Amino acid sequence: MNNKEMKQLIKNARKYSRPFRVTDDHFRLKDIDPGDTLDLTSEDKPRAKEALANGIQVLAELQDMLYAQDNWSVLLIFQAMDAAGKDGAIKHVMSGVNPQGCQVYSFKVPTSEDLDHDYMWRCMKRLPERGRIGIFNRSYYEETLVVRVHRAFLEKQKLPPDLVTKDIWKERFQDIRSIERYLLRNGVLIRKFFLHVSNKEQKKRFLERIEEPEKNWKFSANDAKEREYWDDYMDAYEDMIRNTATKGAPWYVVPADNKWFTRVIVAAAVIDALDSLDLKYPKVSDAKLKELAAAKRDL
Ligand code: AMP
Ligand code: MG
Repeated sequence: MNNKEMKQLIKNARKYSRPFRVTDDHFRLKDIDPGDTLDLTSEDKPRAKEALANGIQVLAELQDMLYAQDNWSVLLIFQAMDAAGKDGAIKHVMSGVNPQGCQVYSFKVPTSEDLDHDYMWRCMKRLPERGRIGIFNRSYYEETLVVRVHRAFLEKQKLPPDLVTKDIWKERFQDIRSIERYLLRNGVLIRKFFLHVSNKEQKKRFLERIEEPEKNWKFSANDAKEREYWDDYMDAYEDMIRNTATKGAPWYVVPADNKWFTRVIVAAAVIDALDSLDLKYPKVSDAKLKELAAAKRDL
């Protein structure tokens, strides 16, 4: 890919990802249709796949510069209902990047060691090093989602009772905003993705997990039970996005009923994020140039 093609692709990446970017508190979940594919129809699917392949190539080049420059790190946070396609999006979008420059971590139900600390503790330990792209498959945002929908999780946290008031979610949003601002000021660029799948499509995917033997392992009866709390989750997601979407650390609310489209948008948003860093290979100093010339002579 030449420079001109790369520039065009970055421009397109911006065009496709911007409609789904949320940077302030005006967000309403019902404004985003999980089935949206912008101006692309299923006939464009092969073209979208090609765009994704090219996007992955650009991403790999940008990541190489991120790594060489070694100043910024990039943290990509993925949140979604089960079967929305987090794992697939992560797998496809990151498929072209150098594994050495990438760190993925999946956050599960907290362990007893985790519960002996504040909720950020386990996440802070997993932040990407400078020059790397870190991916959180779920994150501290679960502290305002599953923990909010199921109070039993909050009770297990052994917080001093006086600190657990009706303001707890507001306080958590406040703390998360502060921490993300702190991270940005220290060279961690954060982008957050909510893969927005519809209730109907989730049901279809759960049925596929039951019916197709090679997908059986993905199915858990408990995930299906969580469907009872669908509306509570949607309320929690909306409130979370409204309260934690900022210019510095935006959310992308990505339609997730069509996997091919989800992946294009996620890749586009990551390209846009990396491009915003104005990455360059480190400038070689005169001393280093002399060293290189001397080494060449000696070889
Ligand atoms: P999975 O991503 O399917 O492997 O499932 C991980 C599970 O861990 C999900 O059911 C999450 O709701 C749960 N989980 C992740 N973080 C937390 C948390 N902070 N508190 C309680 N449950 C959590
Ligand atoms: Mg699961």
